[in-house]
Parts: sequence; structure tokens; C-alpha cells
Amino acid sequence: MSQAEIGLIGLGVMGSNLALNIAEKGNRIAVFNRTVDATRKFYAEAGALKDQIVPCETIEEFVAAIRPPRPIIIMIKAGDPVDQQMEALKPHLAKGDIMIDAGNANFRDTMRRFDALKDSGLTFIGMGVSGGEEGARHGPSIMVGGTEESYRRVEKVLTSIAAKYDSDPCVAWLGENGAGHFVKTIHNGIEYADMQMIAEIYGILRDGLKMTAQEIGEVFGAWNKGRLNSYLIEITEKVLKAADPLTGKPIVDMILDKAGQKGTGKWSVIEAQNMGVPATAIEAAVAARSISSAKEEREAAEKVLGLPPVGEIKVADRDGFIKDLENALLAAKIGAYAQGFAVMAAASKEFGWNLPMPTIAKIWRAGCIIRSQFLDEITTAFTKAPDAANLIVTPAFAAMVKESDGALRRVVSTAVLGGLPVPALASALGYFDSYRRGRGTANVIQAQRDFFGAHGFDRVDGADSHHGPWGSGLNA
Ligand code: NDP
Repeated sequence: MSQAEIGLIGLGVMGSNLALNIAEKGNRIAVFNRTVDATRKFYAEAGALKDQIVPCETIEEFVAAIRPPRPIIIMIKAGDPVDQQMEALKPHLAKGDIMIDAGNANFRDTMRRFDALKDSGLTFIGMGVSGGEEGARHGPSIMVGGTEESYRRVEKVLTSIAAKYDSDPCVAWLGENGAGHFVKTIHNGIEYADMQMIAEIYGILRDGLKMTAQEIGEVFGAWNKGRLNSYLIEITEKVLKAADPLTGKPIVDMILDKAGQKGTGKWSVIEAQNMGVPATAIEAAVAARSISSAKEEREAAEKVLGLPPVGEIKVADRDGFIKDLENALLAAKIGAYAQGFAVMAAASKEFGWNLPMPTIAKIWRAGCIIRSQFLDEITTAFTKAPDAANLIVTPAFAAMVKESDGALRRVVSTAVLGGLPVPALASALGYFDSYRRGRGTANVIQAQRDFFGAHGFDRVDGADSHHGPWGSGLNA
């Protein structure tokens, strides 16, 4: 039997689907899982793809089944398990073999793992994979970080399994060491913001306009045919229209309003803060998940404080307001994406990656959770203006912001006056309003800092005088 071109460790949800995808595209693959039963079950259910799969029950057997130099995808629980798995593999590998961590790693772990292998003759790739179970099986978006040389060795297989937008494969080498996992992290950060904004709009329709889940589903369905066309809007329509098999009620009405999180949103915010880049929409989305998880506390607070005494939102032109909601969501989404791309631009400088912004937008157009028509517009905007300081000052997006931010302002004001929480929508609006204002209010902050800490300030007239006339009583 001929040797496999690639190996994969970890036959959980993602790994088993990725392995079937690899096999289906004509690549022979060796597979291994810590728990042997999972390997047996996977192989037993592989159907016609069995011919392309070599199931292995020991690491020795697994390594021997792959043709050197061996690319080995590790698709297991992120964190310590990856270090343990790499340690277990290492003694069996030879010069030139590549370990590819395809889980949701923190890019700082990826940088550490990459560095640790530098002089060992082995190579490490940190590979972000998006698209969930379905994407892994039929075409994910793949973000690769490592040496360019190591990427070239796996490019053919990855291109064969990646999602395609028109005929462009959604996979690219994005830079050295942690670049791929960093970009995946920011992808997820943007995803958090996208989802939160959709949930806030849903809240306005449900609690402000008193619409049913089915009716709101219709609204999202209509929006999916317009500029908001995207996977997340598409599935929002589907989840809103789905009935609960137990009660026959809309399933969303039966789901507890406590959102989980695994860390990538939080990491996006931490890294944005580390670099001093505002990512307020992503921050608001992460915070909103945390508030959501404090369900019992919120219920207790509602008893103490009550809801704002407003009730149903009164809008003179209901259809016009729903049109405003569509445009508001578009504007806020632009804010979130602009922030995500700005964080990546800063990281690119900080870590010397030279991240290709148009390529990142390009490989997110299909396969991943935030896939949308909108990303095609971002690709075009960054291709035309690769050095733009921010997505919102590129001509196309500046025009979109000017067209839609009025709607965002009306929606945020209406929601705030109606007592409905819209932290992510409001943060995007605040971002636009601060970013576009040449003369802000930090002059007062600088004066205060100088007053209590003699921190000094620059003057608008450039004069060489950097402290205020506060007298001698400065408090340290
Ligand atoms: P699952 O929980 O379905 O599977 C986990 C896998 O990890 C199993 O194969 C398990 O083996 C293995 N594993 C756990 N601990 C160890 C260990 N200490 N040593 C060796 N193997 C171990 O997870 P997923 O497939 O959902 O996720 C895998 C990775 O992909 C994660 O990093 C996740 O964040 C990432 N990811 C997940 C996505 C999703 O939509 N689910 C999307 C994109 C990325 P065993 O059978 O022996 O327990």
C-alpha cells in the first residue's frame, strides 16, 4: 500500500471532517486519535473514502504510514494537549517533518512552539481553520502562519480542501510563526461583534417592535438578499424560523439567554489593548457575552431596578425604521471590520509579519463563519488602497459610512430612549464619531494629567511651553 501524503491527529468534530475532506480531494491520509475507539469508528464510517485513509492505532504506525518529509495536522483541544501531543510525536519524526497545529491556538503559544522547534530540523505551522464542522468537511477558510517554504510543501493539499469563492481557494500563507493564528483570532473577534450586533437588532425588533421570532426571521431573510448578504444573516433567519420539537414554539424562545465563549474574542481584545488599537465593537461584544452569562445576577437586578419605563418603541414609519435597522447594521458592521483590520495592521508591524490585508479579506469571502459579499467589497477596497490607515477612509467605505451612519444614529438613539441595550451598535457609532473628529476632547485629559502629575502636553501652536499655569501645588 502506498504511503500517505499527509497525517492528521485528532478525530473529534473538526479533525474527522477535515480528514474526510482531505481524502475526498484525492489525498491519501493517515489518521490517529488518542482514544483508539474513535479511530475505529471513524474508519468504519468512512464509506467510499476508506481507500484513501490509513487508520493507525499507535504513533509509530502513524508516522511510518506517512511519506517523508511528513506534514502532520494536529487538530485537537487547544492548549496543553497540543504541547503534550507534540512532545509525544517528536521522537518519531525526522528532519524536514512539519507539525501543523490546526486548532484554535493562542498565537503566542504558536510563536513559542515555532521558536522551540527552530533548530531541531522540524518545522511548525500554526494554521487557523474556520467554518465549523460543515466548513471542515466541505471547504474551510484556512489561514497559515509559518515559514513560506513549509507552506509551499502543504499548499497543494490545502488548496484542494479549502473553500472556493468563484474559483479562488480560501487559503493563504499570511506570514511567519503566529501570523495564521493571529488572523484567525481576529476573525473570531469580528465574528463576536457581528453576532452581537445581529442579536441587538433582534432585541430591538423583539422587545421594541414586539415582533414574533417568525416575523423577525422574515426581516433577516429579506436582508440576506441585499447588502447584508452573509452566512450569519442567513443562519439567523433559519434559527428564528425553527420550531422547538418539544413545545412547537420558536426554538429561540426556548433557549436560555446565556452565551458561551472559548477565548478568541477575549484574546482579540487583549491584543488590541496591548497595541493601543481601539476595538470597541469587539470589546462590547465580549463584554455582552459576559453580562449574558450572569443570568441570575441580571434577574436579581431586574427585581431591584426594574426595566426602563418605556415599553414598546413608537415609530411613525415602521417600514422606514426597519430599513434604518438594516442600514444601521451595515454601518456598525463596517465599524467592527475596520477595527479588526486595524488591529491586524498594528500586529503586522509589531511582529514583522507583513500581513496582506486584501488577501485576508479574500480568504474570508467563503468557507468561514463571517463569509459575506461584504468581504468581497473589503478585498476590492484594500486592493485599491493597500496602505489606507483605516478601512473607513477608503473611498468605497467612506461613502458607505456616509450613507448609513445616519440610520445607525437614529437606531441607537431610539434604542437608548427605549431602554434597550445596544452596546456594540453604540460602540461602532462612538468609534465613527471619535475617529472622524479632527479636534477631540483629550486636551482636557492632557491638562488634567499635567495638573496632577506634571506629565506635560503639546500645544496646538507648537510653542515650546509644555506645562500649564497650575501653580506649584501639583499632586503626584
Ligand atoms: P472535539 O472536542 O470534537 O475533539 C477534541 C479532540 O482532541 C479529540 O480527538 C480528542 O481525543 C483530542 N484530545 C483532547 N485532549 C487531548 C490530549 N491531551 N492529547 C491528544 N488528543 C487530545 O474538538 P473539535 O474538533 O471541535 O476542536 C478541535 C480544535 O479545533 C480545537 O482547538 C477547537 O478550538 C478548534 N476549532 C473548532 C471549531 C468548531 O467549530 N468545533 C472551529 C474551528 C476550530 P480523544 O478522542 O482521545 O478525547
